[in-house]
Amino acid sequence: MSFDRSLARCSFCGRRPPEVRRMVAGPGAAYICDACLQLCNEILQDTAPFSAKALELASRPPVVIAAPQELQLGTVALPREPLRSVNIELEQKLQGMVLMLHQLQFYEKHFELHYLWIRPPFTVGFAFVPRIIFLIKDNTGKEWTGDRGGMLLARPELTDDANQAVYQGSARFSPLPSADSHVMTVRAADPLAQFGDSPPNPWQFEITF
Ligand SMILES: [Zn+2]
Repeated sequence: MSFDRSLARCSFCGRRPPEVRRMVAGPGAAYICDACLQLCNEILQDTAPFSAKALELASRPPVVIAAPQELQLGTVALPREPLRSVNIELEQKLQGMVLMLHQLQFYEKHFELHYLWIRPPFTVGFAFVPRIIFLIKDNTGKEWTGDRGGMLLARPELTDDANQAVYQGSARFSPLPSADSHVMTVRAADPLAQFGDSPPNPWQFEITF
């Protein structure tokens, strides 16, 4: 199978050759641009246990690397970029699990809360279904509930502990908060815990942005 190199796109960020300084071609339709190589270098040099840059890179949506010929170039969606990101880096331990709130991302019509959930591994066949349920209230009294979309990804490379697994998730909320909103109280609950004998206290965080 041959690939039309004119359709080359960086597999990590989706940029095309005219948009980057250098593009390195990999096997098949895989490419990486100079900016993404630079980012990978920075991740390799990051000594933090949870590299924010590695998380950002891993949480990008997949890039369509081999677009069919008949597809109009303009119709291939570029990876979406938040209009504004707020780093939070809050963590709390509760009932043997840790919830780390990582980032708030604001888009045109919704916002997302990105988190890491460190807990005993889900058993096979159960993974990826459970998600954390969020209840958010801001200083104006506006409330958002639930997890509308978002996903949970296993990140086994982020821990060496066999009894702990790291899951990376995001929850999506709309509408956007108003211009007066700058403090959010985030309550988070493990949906599985509601089947236990005593419902646990939810995690509670306060985010100022
Ligand atoms: Zn790139």
